Amino acid sequence: MVAAGKGERAGGLVPKQFQPLLGQPVLRRSVWAFAEVPEIGAIQIVTAEGLEPQTEEAVRGIACLPFALGGETRQESVCNGLEALAPHAPEFVLVHDAARPLVSPDLIRRVMTALEAGATAAIPVLALADTIKRKEPENWTSVSRCGGLYRAQTPQGFRFDALLAAHRAHASESVTDDMAIAERAGLPITPVAGDETNLKITTEEDFAYAARLLRGVMSEFRTGQGFDAHRFARGDHVWLCGVQIAHDAGLEGHSDADAGLHALTDAILGAIGAGDIGRHFPPTEEKWRDAPSSLFLAEAARLVAEANGAIVHCDVTLVCERPKITPHREAMRARVAEILRIGIDRVSVKATTTDGLGFTGRGEGLAAQAVATVRLPPD
Ligand code: MG
Repeated sequence: MVAAGKGERAGGLVPKQFQPLLGQPVLRRSVWAFAEVPEIGAIQIVTAEGLEPQTEEAVRGIACLPFALGGETRQESVCNGLEALAPHAPEFVLVHDAARPLVSPDLIRRVMTALEAGATAAIPVLALADTIKRKEPENWTSVSRCGGLYRAQTPQGFRFDALLAAHRAHASESVTDDMAIAERAGLPITPVAGDETNLKITTEEDFAYAARLLRGVMSEFRTGQGFDAHRFARGDHVWLCGVQIAHDAGLEGHSDADAGLHALTDAILGAIGAGDIGRHFPPTEEKWRDAPSSLFLAEAARLVAEANGAIVHCDVTLVCERPKITPHREAMRARVAEILRIGIDRVSVKATTTDGLGFTGRGEGLAAQAVATVRLPPD
């Protein structure tokens, strides 16, 4: 996985492989695509020197070999990755650009199948449908009349020993991809069908297009619900939906007793089938005493990210006579959006009373319920 580029062309303050695409770094999506294919034995990431912590963070929870470090050029970076693998050389290697996060398991398998059938170099290609023009100093030339033009994609698959030898032999020549190295080494090329959706992200527009494509792929929606209640006790403030509100009572609880965030955390955990808040943060554990409940909610969001999902929307209803919620509602929405790292338009906070009925009506405590919708890739 070649992730050592600086990615200046896509704009932004961080290299494009670390920029989020529907809430996940591009690199994570690329690596995940391979991690999901059981036939892939190991993943060797090549990252740039100094970017190891960001790389670590991006692929947290996915099993990868210790990172190799990139060189001045893509070619050098790939070569460094191959040298890192050499001591326990695999039979085959697939070289993939981290900037292609939409690579499908089908394409990965097509390349592997070609190698297993005896190919030395299996390259995904697509025939050019557009007519191609070259801008000359004085005028334009149409080159497509020549025909036979293709776009090459990654992952490009090789017999490992053949590719390593080719890189070592042609290290001084500058080429654009591994197929070009294979050509120079005289390796036979086996074309496999590429994939139109296997977009290489280069510009800002590519990010928007990739997000549109990805939304089509992440077709599974799941909904979770949560409920929580806490008793009023002595105190001068309560925490609700991450906002501190002055009040003539406090709320009893092991953590900060933020029933709103607790109900929402349970809703998100419910949507991804990840148990409940008590399982992740047992009230019997001393370390969660007086803990800010934003920690719990952030962990639920992290688990969604780990499942390669995205939180689409959440809706919290607070049930109490007092304190009055309306003056704090926008601050609550903003805080929840901040913790979940989603847009405020995806967060709803509502309040109701129970018309004097029950424990909330008598002012003995307050309750909260929440619903969360999560988008996941299909199985
Ligand atoms: Mg609670």
